[in-house]
Parts: sequence; C-alpha cells; structure tokens
Amino acid sequence: MKLLYLFVCTCLISITAYSQTKDSVSVDTAVKIDTKAIKVNPAFPAVSITLQSLQHIETPKKDWIAENWNTKVFNPYKNIKKQYPLQIKFDDSTYASPIPRKKVITSRYGWRNRRPHNGIDIDLITGDRVMSMFDGVVRYVNYHSGHGKTVVVRHFNGLETVYAHLSKQLVKVNDTVQKGQIIGAGGTTGNARGSHLHLEVLYQGIPIHPEYVFDFSNEDNLIRSNEIWVTRRWTSAYRHNSKRKSKIELCTTEEEAIASKAEETKVYTVRRGDTLSRISNKYNVSIARLCKDNSIRRTSTLRVGQKLIVKQ
Ligand SMILES: [Zn+2]
Repeated sequence: MKLLYLFVCTCLISITAYSQTKDSVSVDTAVKIDTKAIKVNPAFPAVSITLQSLQHIETPKKDWIAENWNTKVFNPYKNIKKQYPLQIKFDDSTYASPIPRKKVITSRYGWRNRRPHNGIDIDLITGDRVMSMFDGVVRYVNYHSGHGKTVVVRHFNGLETVYAHLSKQLVKVNDTVQKGQIIGAGGTTGNARGSHLHLEVLYQGIPIHPEYVFDFSNEDNLIRSNEIWVTRRWTSAYRHNSKRKSKIELCTTEEEAIASKAEETKVYTVRRGDTLSRISNKYNVSIARLCKDNSIRRTSTLRVGQKLIVKQ
C-alpha cells in the first residue's frame, strides 16, 4: 500500500514538473515570436497608409446637393453648358416604385400633340401615396403651371426625379428623404385629364427618357445598369413617340455612346408613295428637321430613289 502511495505521489510530482516546464517553454516561444514580429520592416505599413490616403484624395465624390441648389426654380441648370454623352452612375441596382400599385404607363416620353412630353405618365388613383425613387434631398415643392403640385428630389448621384399632378405635397424643401419614403399623394392638379403621376428624370436639368434608365415593365424595379451613358437621342422628346415603346439600346461605356452617336444619322432612300410626313412619322423626326438637314422645302416633291439624311 505504501509502495502504491509512493508511486502515485511520484507520478503526480513528475506531471506537475512536466507541465511547469511546458508552461515555461510555451511562454518562451511566445516571447520569441513577438520579438520576431517587431523586427518587421516598419517602412511597409507607412507606405500602404500613404497610398490609401492618396487614392482617397484622387476620387472624391461630387457633392451634387451643394451645386446649383435652388429651391425657387424648376430648372436651376438652365445656363450651364452640358457635355454629351452624359454619364450617370448608380450605387443601387433597383429603384423604389413611385406608386404602391402595378405600374401602368398611359403615355410615354416623346412627341405628343406637337409638343414634347418630357416624362412618363403612370396610372394611379387620387390619394395614392407617391414615393421617392431613391435617397435624396427635396429641392423643389411648388405649384408649376403645367405640372400642378410638384415635388422634385435631387439624388446623391446628381439625378433628379420629378413627381407632378400631386393632390398633396407631404415634404418641404431641404428635407432629406429616403428611398421609398412618401413625399406626396397622387392627383390631377395642373394640366392633367385623369389622375396619374407624371414622372420626369432630369440630369442637370435635362429630361432623359425614363425608360432608357429604368425598367418599368415589371415589379423588379431594375435600374438598367450601374453606369449609364446618355446620348442626345435619349434627351430629345421629338425623337420618340409618346404612343410607342422606344427600342432601348443601352450604352454602358463611353465608347458605346460615341459609336451609337455615329449611327444616329441614317440615309433613307425615297420609295414610291413616300411623303415627308410619312418619313417623319416612321423615324420620329419632325418635318422641319428633315427639311433643314436635307435643304429642302415642305412643299418639295420627293423623287423615287432620292437619298434623304435622317438624323434621329
Ligand atoms: Zn405627363
């Protein structure tokens, strides 16, 4: 029994001694590793910090809210020269639907009753809530002669969205709004026959074809791309027909935009039975423009086989 007791004691002592040794060894190793880590060349972290801060300085985001901020006029960009093609960038891939129901477009961006229709009309019932499509700051809340009660929100990428014919405006100028936040209620104020939302998409005061930038055809509410290049074709209502869907050929790079600009001029060969008005309707180009681009008069007779320049 005594022997067994001694044996157990000896075992316990050796285990304690071993673990103590192990402890001291592990402490030693840890210290050694630390010492090695300190020896790393200190130039590296200093260099990477400098590079990071330089990159930050090189790509500052433009503060669109600070520039040309005017809460009194509908278009504060009137006297500012614009450079085409326009480049628009989005951080989001979707927009918030401006109305709480299925989007039915009753009139499109384009030529309408001999005048430009600079937005799209989306059907709604008076009193329906109207929401901001993106985060932004309310720039304009006013009664506009044609648009009636109107709210304009400027977003942080420079784009503005216009909500017109409202029955109620529920925000004030300089209010910050979030994507999907209620800004008013739909109605028929201004020059509107039935209740609908007249929605415009502006960039530096230029109305862009809303369907070029956004897909309104379903409830996915997609922005067509994170980067969109806009040529004059998509900012000229006379090149579109408010009753017809325009074929969207999206430019997502500057190169594509420049190439598509070159394709905008067509040469049309006059066929039997053609008239200026028929060609004008076919290509959504005004008769005045056809006459100007081809140095002909409205009363000129067209010959079969004659070549006409059609600038779309
Ligand atoms: Zn409209």
